[in-house]
Amino acid sequence: MVVNGLTKLYQRGGNTVQALAGVSLSIPQGSQLAIMGPSGCGKTTLLHCLAGVLRPTTGSITLDGTEMTTLSEGAISELRLKHFGFVFQDGQLLPELPCQENIAMPLMLAGVARKEAIARAQQILVNLGLEGAGPYRPGQLSGGQAQRVAIGRALITNPKVVFADEPTGALDQSTGAEVMGVLTYACQSTGASLILVTHDPSVAARLPHEIHMRDGLIDQQVSR
Ligand code: ADP
Ligand code: MG
Repeated sequence: MVVNGLTKLYQRGGNTVQALAGVSLSIPQGSQLAIMGPSGCGKTTLLHCLAGVLRPTTGSITLDGTEMTTLSEGAISELRLKHFGFVFQDGQLLPELPCQENIAMPLMLAGVARKEAIARAQQILVNLGLEGAGPYRPGQLSGGQAQRVAIGRALITNPKVVFADEPTGALDQSTGAEVMGVLTYACQSTGASLILVTHDPSVAARLPHEIHMRDGLIDQQVSR
């Protein structure tokens, strides 16, 4: 994914807020990037633009040669469904559905037959160390287990990019570390890129690339 000169203006009341002021960066396929910075600096806005959830005001985002900013709404939702996975702070699993159906949902939405989707979800549960959890609802699991189910749901379509906004924000330190281990390993083993927003320097330090934002701009880049 190659990002060039991204800006985003929001209108609020009579005022204009510049959330992104010209962000350029390159995220090679399969790499892992943490987005850091103080509250209000534009992290979530950047993540949502990259994920095709929000249209930037100006600038370009190219994924495998496709310019995302000029795609129609329909084409953007298809791109999201097929090629992107999402992990949120609180999992956002569907509480009434068993874990295996939560994981299988994106495949079923993409038209895969239910039986096959559930079988793939079951395999993912095994890979995540949750083989017994399929029939349980998310509320019957611990926070860390539920977050692993959310990772399974993000990865079942074999996405090119996984987007995560504060995925460990609601977990204690050791559960957060465990979930980060599962997330980074899962992305590595499937070849998915990982783009993750965090406040926590110890979470960012687990990823090979890090950008720091301030006032809608990248003010520091770290690679290790
Ligand atoms: P972060 O995730 O780093 O906390 P955000 O991307 O959420 O930052 O916000 C960046 C700036 O844009 C902030 O000043 C915020 O108040 C503003 N902002 C975010 N979303 C909206 C919106 N929908 N309408 C108006 N202003 C917004
Ligand atoms: Mg945010």
